[in-house]
Amino acid sequence: MRLDDYDPGDDIRDLGRGGGGFGGGGGGGGMGGLLIGLLPMLLGRKMGCGTILLLGALAFFFFGGGMQMLGGGGTVDPAADSRGAATGGATGAVCDTQAERFACNVFSSTNKYWATQISGYSEPGLRFFTDRNTSGCGAAQAAMGPFYCPADHGIYLDTAFFNELQTKFGAAGDAAQAYVVAHEVGHHIQTVTGISDQVRRAQQRASQAEGNALQVRMELQADCYAGVWASRARNADGAQVMEPGDMEEAMRAANAIGDDTLMRSAGQRPVPESFTHGTSEQRMTWLRRGLQTGDPKQCDTFNASL
Ligand SMILES: [Zn+2]
Repeated sequence: MRLDDYDPGDDIRDLGRGGGGFGGGGGGGGMGGLLIGLLPMLLGRKMGCGTILLLGALAFFFFGGGMQMLGGGGTVDPAADSRGAATGGATGAVCDTQAERFACNVFSSTNKYWATQISGYSEPGLRFFTDRNTSGCGAAQAAMGPFYCPADHGIYLDTAFFNELQTKFGAAGDAAQAYVVAHEVGHHIQTVTGISDQVRRAQQRASQAEGNALQVRMELQADCYAGVWASRARNADGAQVMEPGDMEEAMRAANAIGDDTLMRSAGQRPVPESFTHGTSEQRMTWLRRGLQTGDPKQCDTFNASL
């Protein structure tokens, strides 16, 4: 991919390696963190951002609703504590490794694109961490994979995941990495547009299987949004960010992290009712749709047959 340098005004922080233990934001945060950390493992998942999103929502609902609701207004940020601690503590400069720099550039490009699509767009934050730290949705652990926390609008990323993409998932290349970041930004778009809230409300009334099916639609929409960004984004000089081979790299990543593929590679029989991200086929289909149409309106996974 060919990307401009990130904008120094972007909300990017390096939280570094957190102290021992879960949570840190009070009992509720710790509890949510424990659930969030465990469930992806129970499900044998490698990339649980949807699970995280769902559990983050649940943790929000059960434990931290009132407080985090305040954070939604923008002046009181539920993650302010951990951020403050982080900036005062052992945190490095942001975007100072090659992997971080690339993630920063992707992040910045996605924000520039989405600002042209959504009036009054408010940017998410990009939060690097190493191994383990805390998020507004509880514990952030590298084992969970990158995730978006709706409560603090943060995208949490341990860039070690980029290596895993290549070594564990066989998805090499910068476009595979860009897809991951852009997918998480896609979840932020869903939060900004209110889709996340609608889905969360529907999930509260739904059975587990129905809730999972809704989650799959959320994830596929985020994939589609990632594709839309990649196809539409332009650099300051007007050049496309996509280069030859990028589409294939991104598609390979989408293929690698489909629920059926992940469960098979974990030695499990794929159970469709348990899927939360969609099959490899579905993920590739919706990423491709975004890439080919470049139109966010084509990403309405809620009113389409998957
Ligand atoms: Zn996701």
